[in-house]
Amino acid sequence: MSELFNVADIFGEDVFSDAVMEERLPKKVYKELRKTIDEGKELDPMIAEVVAGAMKDWAIEKGATHYTHWFQPLTGVTAEKHDSFISAPVNGKVLMEFSGKELIKGEPDASSFPSGGLRATFEARGYTAWDCTSPAFVRHDAAGAILCIPTAFCSYTGEALDQKTPLLRSMEALNVQALRLIRLFGNTTSKKVTPSVGPEQEYFLVDRKKYLQRKDLIFAGRTLFGAMPPKGQELEDHYFGSIRERIAAYMKDVNKELWKLGVSSKTQHNEVAPAQHELAPIYAVANIAVDHNQLIMETLKKVAERNGLYCLLHEKPFAGVNGSGKHNNWSVITDDGINLLNPGKTPHENIQFLLVLTCILKAIDEHADLLRESAADVGNDHRLGANEAPPAIISIFLGEQLEDVLEQLVSTGEATHSLKGGRLQTGVKTLPDLAKDATDRNRTSPFAFTGNKFEFRMCGSRDSIASPNTVLNTIVADVFCEACDILEKADDFDMAVHDLIKKYASEHQRIVFNGNGYSDEWVEEAKRRGLPNITSMVDAIPALITEKSIKLFEKYGVFTKAELESRVEVKYETYAKAINIEARTMVDMARKQIIPAVIKYIKVLADSINSVRAACDADVSVQTGELKDASALLAQTKAALVRLEEVTEAASVMEEGEKQAKYYHDSVMPAMEALRIPVDKLEMIVDKDLWPMPSYGDLIFEV
Ligand code: ADP
Ligand code: MG
Repeated sequence: MSELFNVADIFGEDVFSDAVMEERLPKKVYKELRKTIDEGKELDPMIAEVVAGAMKDWAIEKGATHYTHWFQPLTGVTAEKHDSFISAPVNGKVLMEFSGKELIKGEPDASSFPSGGLRATFEARGYTAWDCTSPAFVRHDAAGAILCIPTAFCSYTGEALDQKTPLLRSMEALNVQALRLIRLFGNTTSKKVTPSVGPEQEYFLVDRKKYLQRKDLIFAGRTLFGAMPPKGQELEDHYFGSIRERIAAYMKDVNKELWKLGVSSKTQHNEVAPAQHELAPIYAVANIAVDHNQLIMETLKKVAERNGLYCLLHEKPFAGVNGSGKHNNWSVITDDGINLLNPGKTPHENIQFLLVLTCILKAIDEHADLLRESAADVGNDHRLGANEAPPAIISIFLGEQLEDVLEQLVSTGEATHSLKGGRLQTGVKTLPDLAKDATDRNRTSPFAFTGNKFEFRMCGSRDSIASPNTVLNTIVADVFCEACDILEKADDFDMAVHDLIKKYASEHQRIVFNGNGYSDEWVEEAKRRGLPNITSMVDAIPALITEKSIKLFEKYGVFTKAELESRVEVKYETYAKAINIEARTMVDMARKQIIPAVIKYIKVLADSINSVRAACDADVSVQTGELKDASALLAQTKAALVRLEEVTEAASVMEEGEKQAKYYHDSVMPAMEALRIPVDKLEMIVDKDLWPMPSYGDLIFEV
């Protein structure tokens, strides 16, 4: 029997939570800090001094020796630099110190983080600023215990160099505009509106020893070669299947770690592909959800290592089986708990909801390119549009009930009724009849309404969810703003809101699609409707710096033009670097591992033919056939290898930027695919004992 524990006892024990602050801070200080957290009031340095002292004492009691400003640069992972609490020794003794200044501001040497030209190396300074709205925590690992302080990361001139700063800015924009909107409907009590986010995280687990035998997994995070095993995911026996002991023990360990960090890990199950799993926390305010998602990814990786496993967060670790994504559930909720996306039982009567809904239709329709870009990632190119994850075309699934309401609005200008959910009859007396949701699920839609939230399903499994949420908050804030500008001036509010809902619904109905998003017909239909179909990251990136995008983001102070341009640069670079690593890894594996193994096998065959011939005149046609096949594929491999080396070399000497990224996409990627084909065929014929790495079967069926 494994160790048992009470979740309620350990939950949040490593978090400098609200309860801890209330207990440890002087009343006045606590109140002031809450004002900053809740109302965005500027932080008094004296308050920070007291908070720092209390935070340090608490962390030291937890065993912490160091603190770190924990931030999210544009590398996709979190960054940290540890400082111990010790002061300069006096008479050989040290004190443990941590000042308000150290809490508020950090100065990591930022010269090596991607900045896209925002920060020349001679002014390499970057600053981290305490985000007091996301609680500090103590993280325990082999290095001991470390006090982690969530921060935003900016340049000397205040430009955002991270994921969090624009996210916080977008939340503020949404807050301002959503408050205007609810005031119009008579709500005078809610003080703040925030986006709520619940991300479902998919991941793969493989055996660590096998992982270490695959250079592609080590360097690129995905397999670059690999023939399909005799069994894939066709039986669908893994999805929701009972969880094996080894994996269950791992999940338990993950949950325990997360709960201690105050992350409300809630659901866990096996996913569609063999060796694939999912974890979802309970939703939280967007910036905390983003931080927690980073902690979830870190914890999944860390705990895997100590369980003899390796956690793959890549979007497509294995060709031929499903890849991994992240479903970003998003809604807009007031501080007193009113969800603006809750339609109620009779959505046709809920005018505020209909306005919010049609504003969202407009926002998504007008900025589909930005939303698509927010999910663009090198690895995600293998999923989006590849018949598994949502297609690369952005559309909205509303479900039967809302689609019907929308239809009524568009055709008659009036919605008079809502379809009912009804009862779900099982036909078995001993089973209860269940109330049926009026909205069914559509798993092929990239942006689906699921009861009282939208689920954006395009996000990559490895990516921070900061960008999609930054985009969602901003584009929706923008339409809220436009709607409020109109409605605040209206003489007859009821009439004006009615007209506006109808207008938005009619003008943006084309973004609604309830059918099968994986079908070829949809690609055609979407084209007819004029919806963009952006199939790769390199084609998605320019959306950030269209005139429309710059105007939008500057209006709400979410990004400046310079910040957008810098991000574009970082993204092209990231793309080029990732493909360059993949290409070089393939070259390395083919040259040093695969070709030598095939030559050995060919020699075995040749030796066999010669020995048999020397012994008697038995039939050697099988060996000869195999020998010929293997030799032909070997020649193809060599030719493809030479070609890949050439294009990779040509790409790597190009100047960084759009042209280079496109070259990697248009020339290097196809050369990689061309090398993979003969190698995967060879894997099917070469003696398994001679094949230099674990197969797909070994990796995903024998965890
Ligand atoms: P499913 O797989 O059926 O979509 P899950 O339970 O796996 O459902 O995940 C749903 C996610 O959506 C959870 O993280 C949940 O907390 C989150 N969620 C639920 N309600 C809201 C909401 N109003 N806003 C944002 N996220 C929500
Ligand atoms: Mg879901």
